[in-house]
Amino acid sequence: MRERTEIDISIMKKAIQQGVIKPKICRQCWTCEKYLEEGKVYCEEYAYGKLPEYIMFPKKECEKYEPLKKIDFVGCDEKLYGGILGFCVGDMLGVPVEFSSREERCTDPVKEMRAYGTYSQPFGTWSDDTSLSLCLIDAIGKDGDYKTIADNFIAYMDNGKFTPGDEMFDIGRTTQLSIEKMKLGVSPIECGMKSENDNGNGSLMRILPLAFVKEKKSVEQMSEYVKNISALTHGHIRSIIACEFYVEMAYSLYKGNGKEDAYRSAIKYITDKYSSSYPEEMQIYSRVLSEKVLECNANEIRSTGYVVDSLEASLWVFFKGNSYREVVLDAINLGGDTDTIGAIAGGLAGIYYGLSDIPTRWIQSIRKLDFIKEEIQNFEKKIKLI
Ligand SMILES: [Mg+2]
Repeated sequence: MRERTEIDISIMKKAIQQGVIKPKICRQCWTCEKYLEEGKVYCEEYAYGKLPEYIMFPKKECEKYEPLKKIDFVGCDEKLYGGILGFCVGDMLGVPVEFSSREERCTDPVKEMRAYGTYSQPFGTWSDDTSLSLCLIDAIGKDGDYKTIADNFIAYMDNGKFTPGDEMFDIGRTTQLSIEKMKLGVSPIECGMKSENDNGNGSLMRILPLAFVKEKKSVEQMSEYVKNISALTHGHIRSIIACEFYVEMAYSLYKGNGKEDAYRSAIKYITDKYSSSYPEEMQIYSRVLSEKVLECNANEIRSTGYVVDSLEASLWVFFKGNSYREVVLDAINLGGDTDTIGAIAGGLAGIYYGLSDIPTRWIQSIRKLDFIKEEIQNFEKKIKLI
């Protein structure tokens, strides 16, 4: 796809040359007094109804962007909101460049929010990763039953519920097939695919909310819950291990542990639980369980949608970065499954660094942010009562 910034700028320059427009009337955004700078022509002023033909993509990568309406998060649990919104922002930043190659991201790294791209979606659009996580958050905010989660999945797939634009625009193959079974009335925890080929990252990408529930259940109850919630769509042991690992690590970060301690507690949890019953899976996860993944160089990290690759890539960027921003941008600039890896790395980084380390303009740009905030509030109330 041709770089759209260049197209915009060339059209803009031509319009200025022809005297069609004057550069000084092109404000960057409502609150910004800076005018056209460095060829940037992306302005919120043009986003709603006043968009002249020569302005194609308002506010694209504009660091000056300030949204008109702000949602307040003062006093919110830094790690809980940081985790969930950090996950959503990672997803949102990755959506426009999903499936792009590592080479493309090296020559044109994502540094700020973008729009359009792979799915031609506007700014602030999040995808199935956040939608399916919201299905879980919403269900836990009610009764946490598998049937309630399944009903939410069906509403997502069929009616675009839990989506930013009331329309589903992406879904994984395994997830789709499993939801079809739910619609036929099969018991939800029997719906997930169980073959070795069904180990995409489709359950890992929606499991984060369980990290915040973990404290309220016994180890055995929680393990069973994580396993069954993965198995709604992804029932193979490899996907279940990835979910268990991720939930344990995120939970440890949520309790205030450092990166190393959280990582080691997840390694211990998985090794103690699965090494005798699933030695071959321990081999598959050997780079994660030996911590060798952290010593890899970038070309040894595969940022694909295979669950093991996605987990490895997320851990790698999480340890490499020194801020929320660095972690998510590094995740996305690996290319490949950018939204999911951005999301799962962003979830860990959001818990660890906290909500206040996530750039405000990114949070405030999330589509349907008020809806998400309400869902988190209901979820938070419920998990504190369980
Ligand atoms: Mg996605």
